Amino acid sequence: MVLAQRHGKFQGPLCREHGVGMAKAFLSKTLIQGWWGIVSFFMNFYSVAVDVGSLLKARRLPPPSGAAVQP
Ligand SMILES: [Zn+2]
Repeated sequence: MVLAQRHGKFQGPLCREHGVGMAKAFLSKTLIQGWWGIVSFFMNFYSVAVDVGSLLKARRLPPPSGAAVQP
């Protein structure tokens, strides 16, 4: 979590672990909070698409360097 804070903005350079985590957080926030109002409802389809795109991009990031080695 310390490393996650160091990443700062979501748009900054991310490793895969934190990128995926943040993209999922953005996506769940959009899915939970993004449906208010008629205009917001339709605009939210775009937001969901953007968040899913971010998630897919984050999943292609390199694994975290210096993190715990996976077995
Ligand atoms: Zn990271």
